[in-house]
Amino acid sequence: MGESALTGYSEFVQSAMVGRADVPARQNGVMTSDVQEVAEWVRTAHRVVVLTGAGMSTDSGIPDFRGPNGLWTKNPDAEKASTLQHYLADGELRKRSWRSRVDAPLFTAQPNAGHYALVELERRGQLHAIVTQNVDGLHQAAGHDPAKVIEVHGTVHYARCWDCDDRRPMVELLNRVRAGEDDPSCEVCGGIIKSDAILFGQNLVPHVIEAAMAAAERCDLLIAAGSSLSVFPAANVVPRAKSVGARIVIANAEPTNMDRFAHALLRGGLSSVLPLLCAAAPRDDS
Ligand SMILES: [Zn+2]
Repeated sequence: MGESALTGYSEFVQSAMVGRADVPARQNGVMTSDVQEVAEWVRTAHRVVVLTGAGMSTDSGIPDFRGPNGLWTKNPDAEKASTLQHYLADGELRKRSWRSRVDAPLFTAQPNAGHYALVELERRGQLHAIVTQNVDGLHQAAGHDPAKVIEVHGTVHYARCWDCDDRRPMVELLNRVRAGEDDPSCEVCGGIIKSDAILFGQNLVPHVIEAAMAAAERCDLLIAAGSSLSVFPAANVVPRAKSVGARIVIANAEPTNMDRFAHALLRGGLSSVLPLLCAAAPRDDS
C-alpha cells in the first residue's frame, strides 16, 4: 500500500525501499536526501540510459494528452486526428489537423532545465542513450547528439508520405499550408502526407524498438523520467534494464506501472528533479 499513499503528492520524493523513514529537507520543491543518494548513483554510473515521456515536456508548455489540461481532454478532434484510420480516411479531419499544426506549441516549445540536465550527462561521457516516447524533438534541441536519441514514437519535425515513404522536414509542409494548401499531398507521388510521429493504429518501427531494447540491456543505470510506463513496448525498457542488473530510478509526478522495479522513486517535476540528479561533479575515481 505504501506507494498508493503517495498519490496526490505531486512533489513528494520517496525512496522505494520499504521502511525508510528519512525526513529530508525540501529544496526546489523536491525532497533532497534521497535525491542526493540517487545523484551519487548517477555520478558513479558509466552507461546511463534515460527513458523519457510526456512529463518531461510539460514544463516546456507541451500539454500531456489525457491530463485535465490535456490536448485530447480539451479537443477530442485531436485524438481522432491521432488515429491512423481516421487520419487517412477523412480529408476534412486532415485539413483541420494541418491548420492546427501551423500554430501548435509543439513547434515553438523550448527545452527546459530537465532536458539540459541530461545534456550534461552526455557532456560528461556517461550517457549511453535517451529513449524517448516524446515526438517533440526537445532532447535534440537541448543539444544532444541526435545519434544518442532513440525516438520510439517518431517525431513531428519530419513529415512522411503514407504511400511512397518520402520523408522531409515538417517545416516544408507547414510553409505549404501557410501558402494556402489545406491538405498538402506528396510532391513525389500525390499520396497522403502525415507527420512522422507514430499514430494510434500504426505499427512502430522495428529497428527503432530493437535499438531501444539493446540500449536498455547495455546500461548500468536507467532513469525513467516523466512516463507513466504504461505504453508498450517502450515501457519494457525498464524490466530489460533491470534484467541485466542496472539500477532503476523512476522519476514521475504520479505512480507508474513499473514502480515495483525501481530502486528509487522520485516524485517531482522533472525540471526540478533532473538538475539535482545530474548536477554532481563528474566521477573522478575511474
Ligand atoms: Zn509519396
